[in-house]
Amino acid sequence: MERPKVVILGAGYGGLVTAIRLQKKMRGRELDVTLVNKHDYHYITTHLHMPAAGTDHHDHARVAIADLIDPRKIHFRKSTVLEIRPEHKEVVLEDGILSYDYLVVGLGSETETFGIPGMREYAMSIKSINSVRFIRQHIEYMFAKSKVYPKRKDYLTFVVGGAGFTGTEFVGELADRVPVLCRTYDVDPADVRIINIEASPSPLPPGLPVDLVEYGMEVMRRKGVQYRLSTVIKACTEEGVVLGSGELIRAGTIIWSGGVRGNALLQEAGFEVQRGRVKVDSCLRSYQYPNVWVTGDCAIVMSPEGTPYPATAQIAVQMGTNAARNILQTVRGKELRPFVYDYKGTVASLGRGEAVGLLKVRKVKGRFAAFLKKCIDTRYLFLIGGLPLVWKKVIFKQKYME
Ligand code: FAD
Ligand code: NAD
Repeated sequence: MERPKVVILGAGYGGLVTAIRLQKKMRGRELDVTLVNKHDYHYITTHLHMPAAGTDHHDHARVAIADLIDPRKIHFRKSTVLEIRPEHKEVVLEDGILSYDYLVVGLGSETETFGIPGMREYAMSIKSINSVRFIRQHIEYMFAKSKVYPKRKDYLTFVVGGAGFTGTEFVGELADRVPVLCRTYDVDPADVRIINIEASPSPLPPGLPVDLVEYGMEVMRRKGVQYRLSTVIKACTEEGVVLGSGELIRAGTIIWSGGVRGNALLQEAGFEVQRGRVKVDSCLRSYQYPNVWVTGDCAIVMSPEGTPYPATAQIAVQMGTNAARNILQTVRGKELRPFVYDYKGTVASLGRGEAVGLLKVRKVKGRFAAFLKKCIDTRYLFLIGGLPLVWKKVIFKQKYME
């Protein structure tokens, strides 16, 4: 008898955890599972602000998928998804077509530019291993270039658009990295400017208590970060960013962390979306196609208060676990289990040894919060790769290729 075919698109938090849970929980060769991802590694997005700034190596933020997947149970295909055809139950890859009985979409998010002119052309975003390698190299290049063109002070101006979690975490790392780069390139630290521009009146996402936000700003200011709050970027040019007031801030580096939207492939496939994300039922299935599960940043899950939960790795992991369980329940003809989000808290790094956050409702800050952030990262590695992965990545700090 033909086994039900499950295709999982994307080996990010949602897709990878779905695959790992199916691998663990399926009986024998109950399902024919294929995991598709454009790289042969999984990247730890929650760590990417560090290699982007150059305070850590990018290979510490990725893990070979071959180390996580049992090829006897899950077939891994390194390929790029070009199109999803839910009407025909098939997916078009760059090198072929895959058909499925059940599909899991975990293709993550894309940078939201809100149509701001020049943003795509002149700004960089923290998205992937490739993007952070580029950002790191670019930052170093600007330090080197500034010495050859000493009149161009703007070469040492770094603008970060958006002071949500991504912008804040990156700015904290960059501020830590600047003294090292100044020494390497013989640059006077007084010539370097890091400007974080935020449309709302305060940095960090709404919902974080005011005293934690103030603490975060104080830490950043001590490191030399300048804030421009209640200030909108309305355009981006080769020279820098144009603010709502018309002022031009000349900058050699623009990092855009103004928000994300779901992967465009979903909208192109005819799914009904809001900011590229698909609203899912209580069991994480598409309302239009009940054989399609949507996880992570591609999905909108509503809270009991009726607002969408933020797109985070934390929820993506829990969604992956639920999707795997419900696929098995479906093929076994059993009742599905609704997804219930267990919010454990949020911690945002502010650079070396500093962080702020909430542990459920308890406020945490400083070294303790930074330690907590490390624990959260380690817990995730344990979840996907057990002790051997924790051993490799945390204890021995092994790089991806070693
Ligand atoms: P992703 O993890 O983005 O994975 C998507 C996967 O799909 C990737 O492997 C990608 O290569 C693959 N893919 C995409 N398109 C294609 C295609 N066409 N074909 C084949 N493969 C494709 N959240 C937290 O909870 N805590 C944090 O501390 C935190 N820190 C963050 C720090 C940064 C700098 C950023 C940018 C985000 C952070 N987040 C954090 C948010 C979190 O990373 C995302 O919510 C999470 O990664 C979403 O998981 P996902 O599975 O939906 O997608
Ligand atoms: P975000 O949407 O949370 O923040 C974007 C920020 O950019 C907002 O504060 C917004 O006001 C600002 N902005 C938008 N347009 C602007 C403009 N034209 N000019 C100036 N400012 C502008 O996006 P993010 O920070 O990339 O986070 C994306 C998701 O990833 C969120 O769900 C977040 O919770 C999650 N995340 C979590 C962590 C963590 O838990 N430590 C870290 C990073 C990201």
